Amino acid sequence: MKAVESTQAPSKITENSYGGWECLCGNEATAYGFYPINDQNEEVEPTPDEWTTNLYACFQCGRLIDVDSLEIVRQIPVSEIRKAS
Ligand SMILES: [Zn+2]
Repeated sequence: MKAVESTQAPSKITENSYGGWECLCGNEATAYGFYPINDQNEEVEPTPDEWTTNLYACFQCGRLIDVDSLEIVRQIPVSEIRKAS
C-alpha cells in the first residue's frame, strides 16, 4: 500500500491570521464551510452530548478535521454527510 500523500507528517488544513480555516481543497468557512460531525457522518450541534468526535467536516471535499490539531484524519464522500436542515 502506497499512500498518495506523505504518511510522515499528517496533512493539516491551514489557519489564516484571522483564525479562519482553509482546507486543502480551497474551501473556506465563508464558502462551503466546515461543520461539526458525529461518527454517523451527521452534522450535529457542537455540544458535549451530540458532538463526541471533535471533528469538523469540510463540506466541499469531505475531509474530516480534528478541531484541536487541525489534522485531517480521513476523508469521506460529501454525499455521505447528512446535513442538518
Ligand atoms: Zn475540503
